[in-house]
Amino acid sequence: MKSERPAPSVLKQLGEMTACREMHLVEQSLLRTLGPVLGIKRTSLYRVDEQGIVTRALHHTRDAAIVGGELQRTSDQIEELSSAIELDPAVANLLDTLRLLDRSSTRQQGDGYLIGYPLHGADHLCGYFVFERDHEVTPTEHAVIHGVLEVFSNYYALLDASQRDRLTGLLNRYSLELNLNRMWDVLAQRHKHGGERPQTNRRGGRAQNYWVGVLDIDHFKQVNDTHGHIIGDEILLLTARLLEGAFRRSDLLYRYGGEEFIVIVAANDVATATQIFERARQAVAHFIFPQVGRLSISGGFSMADPTVLPQTIINRADRALYEAKADGRNRIYFYDELIRTGRLAEVQSGSIDLF
Ligand code: GH3
Ligand code: MG
Ligand code: MG
Repeated sequence: MKSERPAPSVLKQLGEMTACREMHLVEQSLLRTLGPVLGIKRTSLYRVDEQGIVTRALHHTRDAAIVGGELQRTSDQIEELSSAIELDPAVANLLDTLRLLDRSSTRQQGDGYLIGYPLHGADHLCGYFVFERDHEVTPTEHAVIHGVLEVFSNYYALLDASQRDRLTGLLNRYSLELNLNRMWDVLAQRHKHGGERPQTNRRGGRAQNYWVGVLDIDHFKQVNDTHGHIIGDEILLLTARLLEGAFRRSDLLYRYGGEEFIVIVAANDVATATQIFERARQAVAHFIFPQVGRLSISGGFSMADPTVLPQTIINRADRALYEAKADGRNRIYFYDELIRTGRLAEVQSGSIDLF
């Protein structure tokens, strides 16, 4: 007879989970909460986008051993994949079933069982919780899992709302700050371990550089002055949608201020980055806005560099944007290119000592 964890342990874990302010940490915390409750070594979380496509996979593996008569954790690992996610066919099949049934499902696999639960966001399916075990879920366990997932979903929806801009639904400034810090940690790690060599990731794919762009709608004040704020808001909303369509799903798009956007683009080289920014510029330039007609955006971008502060990179992109405006707008400039041609002097400030 296996033992079931007492409720206080779950409550303590839930407390820890809701204390996390960052979504990724909340997800990790969810897996760390449910693994021990179910007495299993490995738990997984799959996130899906609105189309139901898996965008991220998170696996938590822990190992425990009896040391001096007490159960002690010997390892605790989180593996996160956000691109090139290859699902095991059995898992893919289970996820399909979960989506169609919209309730938990269990299937036999070898000597054990593959078990999954759907996860809900504010009003839609946003992911799956999956694990393997040698026996099925008991009614008590089911109630606990269900309850924990519900707390998680509600909390996640709240967090998501706090990181989005009310008008456009894009990520907001607060979220930019969180993500930049997280990104800089990752880049600094890479920098330490890999030096200046071109990076390859663990799966052998080519690793990427990140580019930070500042985009600004041209002559937007005029739109407000001529057509009023309501139409102005509509233009902001439409521009947000056009930009979302132009960038890739994995790029991060923020509303930085009134009619200013920041985007973090993953691309290996400057040619690719330029192409992506150019696509965004054209998407806006080619669109006919109802009542207003044609509009354009200007922008500047710079490469993310872990040896200088994130704010410096934003300032560099902003300097390039300023030059794009000065040259007549409806164009996007690369900061390093402006430095290379001697048009701009280096934006100095806040370098980080990594060693
Ligand atoms: P430039 O091409 O140099 O960027 O000119 P601009 O007119 O776009 O720039 P400026 O900074 O002078 O004006 C920005 C305007 O954006 C001012 C403000 O009325 C408008 N704005 C800022 N936030 C909002 C918003 O949430 N809704 C609406 N409707 N307008 C906004
Ligand atoms: Mg503007
Ligand atoms: Mg502006």
